[in-house]
Amino acid sequence: MATEIQVDAHAREFVGHDHPMLIGSDWVDAASGKTFEVLNPATGELLCRVAEGSSEDIDRAVKTARAAFESGPWHTMKPSERGRIIHRLGDLILEHGDELAALETLDNGKPYAVARAADVPLAADLFHYMSGWCTKLNGQTIQPNVPYMPDAQWHAYTTRDPIGVVGQIIPWNFPLLMAAWKLGPALAAGCTIILKPAEQTPLSALRLGELILEAGIPPGVVNIVTGFGEAGAALAAHNDVDKVAFTGSTEVGKLIVGAAGTSNLKKLTLELGGKSPNVVYADSDLETTIPGAAMSIFFNHGQCCAAGSRLFVEHKVYDEVLQGISDIAKAMKVGNGFDSETEMGPLVSQEQLDRVTGFLDAGAAEGACAVAGGKRVGDKGYFVAPTVLTDTNPKMKVEAEEIFGPVVVAKPFKDAADIPPIANETNYGLAAGVWTRDISKAHATARAIRAGTVWVNCYNVFDAALPFGGYKESGWGREMGGEALNNYLETKCVVTQL
Ligand code: ADP
Repeated sequence: MATEIQVDAHAREFVGHDHPMLIGSDWVDAASGKTFEVLNPATGELLCRVAEGSSEDIDRAVKTARAAFESGPWHTMKPSERGRIIHRLGDLILEHGDELAALETLDNGKPYAVARAADVPLAADLFHYMSGWCTKLNGQTIQPNVPYMPDAQWHAYTTRDPIGVVGQIIPWNFPLLMAAWKLGPALAAGCTIILKPAEQTPLSALRLGELILEAGIPPGVVNIVTGFGEAGAALAAHNDVDKVAFTGSTEVGKLIVGAAGTSNLKKLTLELGGKSPNVVYADSDLETTIPGAAMSIFFNHGQCCAAGSRLFVEHKVYDEVLQGISDIAKAMKVGNGFDSETEMGPLVSQEQLDRVTGFLDAGAAEGACAVAGGKRVGDKGYFVAPTVLTDTNPKMKVEAEEIFGPVVVAKPFKDAADIPPIANETNYGLAAGVWTRDISKAHATARAIRAGTVWVNCYNVFDAALPFGGYKESGWGREMGGEALNNYLETKCVVTQL
């Protein structure tokens, strides 16, 4: 029996009023005084309004972040102390887990059980993990050769310095977790930050801002400017921002590259789109493979840049796998994220609903066959049925482009030799899945696929210690793991002649 999960009282209180943004230690209105609506995607109803930041607010936040960077004490404090404060932020996220999960469900639509079990602990864990890096940002000592000064003696070493003032622009699919992925390594490196949450889902980041101050991160180290793409564009073009980290569409990623190039050549990391291949070999354990492959596309309603949206199945088991995934899709309970039985919530916005149904219409017009789903569910909220398409080809929009919804295209293949060309037939290279009992085939396929992550007999496994990012047009750089620190550090080489 479906039961309604009680919305956490603090979350209810949080959405009960409008929210300014965080600059320094102050919660301020936008310079223009403008605000925008935050809607509940399950109902289309207004939750609250938040400040609509623009270039003026970004400029103010950058000045505040610059002052905080120059005056310290964030990057000049003892690394162990910085680490302790970041760790405390992770603790606070866990302490307020019910509230943060409820805010995610209200704002993004994802099932509460998922937000509570995955988004919140992953965000906390990211800060806990990154806090340990503060004390390990060491340089090297180097013995130079310098052939034109044969008699000289040298003492040379490198230091790792924070890159400075960082702009971070994040999407709406994992609002809290994306904020954590961005903030954690930048904070550990000693940077100061202007975070621009997605306009669809600003609430958990704003609540996180309160926890950031409570944890003892000094004012001005993290500034949170809510607003639309205009605010993000102002960050990307700002001449006093040393680095921008962006997660979002490849299209906007290219605009950010342009803005960096025509302003101060700020450093960039980009985590962009994907159209990830998921490869099922006939020798895999179909009992785990079929639900795993379904989860690879339907988790988070397909609103994952890593979603396994192109399913390639060895022909011998194609019918069985297609049937299994279609059965799962048809049985999935689509509904409000606060319903205890809900497995898939609404898409995040009307725009996203229009985009996904537009793809479904284009697929149908081009001859794709929907063996499950294929259309909107209901007429209130932004629900789409989990969809399995067959009879597609690489020229069709549904197979070529990132849909960012619960839509998979399924295709048979003959044998392992077919996989590299078809799996790599995409401009993206973010992730991939391989399902097999044959260890050699698993690793040979992993090697052949040009993607930043390859999951073997699993999918959507994320952890603070595992680097994540894309080949090709899926982005620049890696998030998480030790590699993420490099995004926020400059290397200084000090050379002394003895
Ligand atoms: P989506 O299409 O999935 O919403 P976007 O790439 O448009 O993804 O958005 C991701 C983030 O980028 C959001 O925070 C959004 O406000 C921001 N954004 C949108 N347009 C721009 C832009 N031109 N420059 C910088 N940031 C932008």
